[in-house]
Amino acid sequence: MGIAENVARIREQMAQAAIACGRDPKSIALCAATKMNDADAVRQAIAAGVDCCGENRVQELTAKLAQNAYAGAPVHFIGHLQTNKVRQVVGKVDLIQSVDSLRLLQAIDKEAARQGIVQDILLEVNIGEEASKSGFAAGDILPMVEKAGQFSNICIKGLMAIPPISHNSGENLNYFQKLFQISVDITGKKYDNVKVDCLSMGMSGDFADAIASGSTMIRVGTGIFGVRNSVKA
Ligand SMILES: *Cc1c(COP(=O)(O)O)cnc(C)c1O
Repeated sequence: MGIAENVARIREQMAQAAIACGRDPKSIALCAATKMNDADAVRQAIAAGVDCCGENRVQELTAKLAQNAYAGAPVHFIGHLQTNKVRQVVGKVDLIQSVDSLRLLQAIDKEAARQGIVQDILLEVNIGEEASKSGFAAGDILPMVEKAGQFSNICIKGLMAIPPISHNSGENLNYFQKLFQISVDITGKKYDNVKVDCLSMGMSGDFADAIASGSTMIRVGTGIFGVRNSVKA
């Protein structure tokens, strides 16, 4: 199946999942996870109506920006970002979803200040407490949000999480619900400069459960582009 058909199918499944839990399908955005897919594939996904593109690697982001691959859609950074590469990402993307340490937060703020901009970000939560994954511990999020008030060149728009790989539907429900609860806790604190508009959770295999748990953005790669080259071989 082609990219356009895949996007249409995912939209339909998103709508079903939303309606099943009484939510407006329009309240959930579809982010195309474009890693290892070329500029042409990215353009096809945008033409098919994805809401934004999410890139994982700085090198791929830079190359595709140079090819004008994301024209017509916002671009997000969703991979692990090293502090020494913030210059190549800050100001070049609409949202950095994967802010996983205070050090990175500081580096982004500093670079955004240098450019005279405010960079929108999400805090990444290591919701499954996996040693192999980056992200803040769930318990560190509220203190971090509080601390982030002192950074005038970043704006926290919400949270992102990549739960453990699941093999059966329902397996990640508790993680999604946990992330949603953290967002509710933040909102309850009524911080001046923080509004949790974006709860980025759910991927190809588990987005229906994420939507049932309050996701406002799902990130879909294989469901749109097919199996990635690195794993095709
Ligand atoms: C690759 C990736 C996705 C999409 O994963 P699929 O299972 O291919 O849908 C989502 N989020 C992040 C951060 C990714 O790296």
